[in-house]
Amino acid sequence: MPRQFFVGGNFKMNGSLESISKIVTTLNEGNITAPTEVVIAPPSLYLLSVKDKIRKEIAVSAQNSYIIASGAFTGEISPHQLKDAGIPWVIIGHSERRTLFGDTDKLVAQKTKTALDAGLSVILCIGETLEERESNKTIAVVEKQLAAVKAEISDWKNVVIAYEPVWAIGTGKVATSAQAQEVHHALRGWLSKEIGQDVAQSTRIIYGGSVSAKNSKELGEHLSHVFQLVRMIAAQPDVDGFLVGGASLKPEFIEIINAGS
Ligand code: PEP
Repeated sequence: MPRQFFVGGNFKMNGSLESISKIVTTLNEGNITAPTEVVIAPPSLYLLSVKDKIRKEIAVSAQNSYIIASGAFTGEISPHQLKDAGIPWVIIGHSERRTLFGDTDKLVAQKTKTALDAGLSVILCIGETLEERESNKTIAVVEKQLAAVKAEISDWKNVVIAYEPVWAIGTGKVATSAQAQEVHHALRGWLSKEIGQDVAQSTRIIYGGSVSAKNSKELGEHLSHVFQLVRMIAAQPDVDGFLVGGASLKPEFIEIINAGS
């Protein structure tokens, strides 16, 4: 079975009632022409209102969840509460969680397990820093991040892996299509070796990091306004979609959703 193209929109800690309502209207009115699975992740405060208003083809995701069902954990949300509220997805292990809030590989793995056990689907983020890339540690780093998750879970059916090089997130520096394909191919190889061929073939591995519908850096300024780079990444055999931050807040998100066609 071919893997369905997947595009996630991570709003991060952005937006207001008014601006998020406008994004929802734009998405509801947008011409989605590709058979893409689309999931958007507004800040938790807006999850329920977005869920109620967004078109039914678009699912809603939290940006984080904790490892316990309920209790004295001020400020946290449990995956069980997300499930109870009808939120089917959660992003786990985003690099901003890892670097700013101390989410270790182990905690990310535990969060993934708890979320899956609660019945959620997980967008599991992994990726290397610039320093790690420059010292040729990229594959070792992402494999270590996945190995931590392997120690906690056995069923990967409801996991989408988001490869997000930390140096590409929010920086305007997009990986080249060759860089993305190289890592995605290695990740699929890891899944095949460590989990099984079926899981390797069926798991979506999406790319994240400054994906935008206007990005043309790889192609030169004369082709500005070209969407080729993102399309080139999308066309790589092991790239099954995108996780989009900043551009998911803009109307161009629709073009990115349609990049999978
Ligand atoms: C992200 O937050 O997951 C992300 C990829 O951000 P951006 O697209 O803004 O780089």
